[in-house]
Amino acid sequence: MAQRFALIIDPVDASEERADYADTFTIVDAAAPALSVGELSTQRGDGVFESIGVIDGHAQEVLPHLERLANSARICDLPVPHAEQWRQAVAVAAAQCPPGEAVIKLILSRGVEHGPTPTAWVTAAPATDFAAVREAGVRVVTLERGYDLDVAERAPWLLLGAKTLSYAVNMAALREARRRGADDAVFVSTDGFVLEAPTASLILRFGGRFLTPAPAGGILHGTTQLSVYEFFVRRGFETGYDRIPASDLAQADAAWLVSSVRLAVPITAIDGTALSVDTEFTAEMNRYLLSARD
Ligand code: PLP
Repeated sequence: MAQRFALIIDPVDASEERADYADTFTIVDAAAPALSVGELSTQRGDGVFESIGVIDGHAQEVLPHLERLANSARICDLPVPHAEQWRQAVAVAAAQCPPGEAVIKLILSRGVEHGPTPTAWVTAAPATDFAAVREAGVRVVTLERGYDLDVAERAPWLLLGAKTLSYAVNMAALREARRRGADDAVFVSTDGFVLEAPTASLILRFGGRFLTPAPAGGILHGTTQLSVYEFFVRRGFETGYDRIPASDLAQADAAWLVSSVRLAVPITAIDGTALSVDTEFTAEMNRYLLSARD
């Protein structure tokens, strides 16, 4: 969907303290070219990003997103973003969002080749309408990720656990899932553990217990999964993080893909085996996710 609003941030040092960062923002025409051809984000996918859901002008879970942006920046040896400066930039973008659902993207790139600073910008646009898929759900196939569960610690240069701009592999996995007659994918490690979807976290339900793969295995710690876990705990359910063998998928009583803009989407089948869908419970999860959350 076309961007409706864009602002470029002149990043300040993380130690700087002042009340107002408005003079470090340049609002630009979202439809006009704004980046240099020397940008390393476009040349090499060298940068990090976040997508924040916006409901009726309220940006959801801004601080967890900013914390993950900072964590991604640290993993990639990028200057750590100034949290208050970025929070104010998100507030400016949120004020431009139309009623209904929208998405704000935060991008921090390594900047222009041989240039002095990173490039940083924020965009806002109406969100795709996911109402139907939140009800109908998705069929998923498991796909090899090509890494074992412990590689993130052994090989930090793979940048696993950072939300980098290099999403070409994730997009290719979605195309492969469609070629195999499914709608989405769940990555599996070479040692046989479930990881995450190309653009979402995975949550499984076993009786009254909810489980998600432990984020230590080089997967992103989803802000939506964290928020949904609060909802589960308030409802009296048990929640946990674990190493989940792919062979356990078939035993789950229900499963969801969760992410900031699509929200909770029930999984209707895994590798062709049908999974039961709790329509009312899924609707409750999405009502919660559509309420204002900080
Ligand atoms: N895992 C991956 C690979 C993702 O790209 C995303 C979201 O884009 C998620 C998990 C879910 O994260 P969040 O709930 O913060 O949107």
